[in-house]
Amino acid sequence: MNTQEYLDLENEYGAHNYKPLDVVLTKGKGIWVWDADGKKYMDCLAAYSAVNQGHCHPEIIKTMMAQAQKLTLTSRAFRNDQLGHFYKELCELTRSHKVLPMNSGAEAVETVIKAVRKWSYKIKGIPEDKAEIIVCANNFHGRTITIVGFSTDPTARSGFGPFTPGFKIIPFGDADALEAAITPNTAGFLVEPIQGEAGVIIPQAGYFKAVREICDRHNVVLILDEIQTGLGRTGRLLAEEHEGIEADLTLVGKALSGGFYPVSAVLSNKEVMDVLQPGEHGSTFGGNPLGCAIARTAIRVLKEEKMIENASEMGDYFLAGLKKIQSLHIKEVRGRGLMIAMELFPEVGGARQFCYKLADKGLLCKETHEHTIRFAPPLVIKEEEVDWALEQIGAVMTA
Ligand SMILES: *Cc1c(COP(=O)(O)O)cnc(C)c1O
Repeated sequence: MNTQEYLDLENEYGAHNYKPLDVVLTKGKGIWVWDADGKKYMDCLAAYSAVNQGHCHPEIIKTMMAQAQKLTLTSRAFRNDQLGHFYKELCELTRSHKVLPMNSGAEAVETVIKAVRKWSYKIKGIPEDKAEIIVCANNFHGRTITIVGFSTDPTARSGFGPFTPGFKIIPFGDADALEAAITPNTAGFLVEPIQGEAGVIIPQAGYFKAVREICDRHNVVLILDEIQTGLGRTGRLLAEEHEGIEADLTLVGKALSGGFYPVSAVLSNKEVMDVLQPGEHGSTFGGNPLGCAIARTAIRVLKEEKMIENASEMGDYFLAGLKKIQSLHIKEVRGRGLMIAMELFPEVGGARQFCYKLADKGLLCKETHEHTIRFAPPLVIKEEEVDWALEQIGAVMTA
């Protein structure tokens, strides 16, 4: 089948809730992918940071195949021999006390909201049904009704109400606004360390130190959504390390399985997680042995193959290279590690045209919002490959 036939097939039978670039991928290896016509591309999106370890990582394949032949799903009605190891290894890696495994990122967000609400009634003493959670404008935390209910993006929320109450929205990067929004009924503050979908928005230095201090002072739980920023993407295991703070609760997903299988988790201190009692929360697939085995290997190779250090070095190199491109279209280049954005002037007329031009040259990336292109390749990218990417980007932006 050729590309057009695949497009026709998807368009006829599938829901149209996405507007992908018209590239039909059939194969991937490391930072490279191939389309239905055999054309090779560098993947500079990495499935929104779900394939930090690179496509089809050989060690993860081995684990997945071996585990698939042994045991895939028990449900949590019974125990399995992978779950405890997964808990321990993830806790040791992230210095957490407790883990609650789910599948998608949105489910981890839902889980943390439930846990923090319960904690606020049982431990903090907020009156039942009064808990408030503070979130930031331009957040992205997923697509469920509760989550889109506290989104400020009209496309994400309009037409989907009524929404779950109990959320308050403040500007991102403004610690005073956080302090002002806190009431005796505030249970938690849910925030991304760097706003990814909003266009890689990095708060001012010192913001999270202030946030940590304010949350401590008011006994408000700090929840960092590191589903995109976590697991090496920003050149540190968790982006909170750049700020020298520790969240009370951390959400991870995406790269937790290296892109093989949906695995997410809530990482918690003991006090919050211990409020959840048997039967109060769960998921048929959450914590299944196949997902756990895959995630164990995915986090092992991240460490063993020094992908986090590489993300830091290559990120600096990539960012410096992008900053050298002289183009009238470029308003700003910013990033941390391999989470990089190039914002174009609005007069240029949208970033998508450049994504197509880059695809022609063999580099896949995706606009986020109208005017910003995100560059976020797998963390295994090498210097000469960054050079190649810079050449293509330079050619397109200065043409
Ligand atoms: C992708 C993402 C989510 C949602 O994850 P899904 O697996 O798509 O449900 C939540 N938060 C952030 C910051 C994300 O980037």
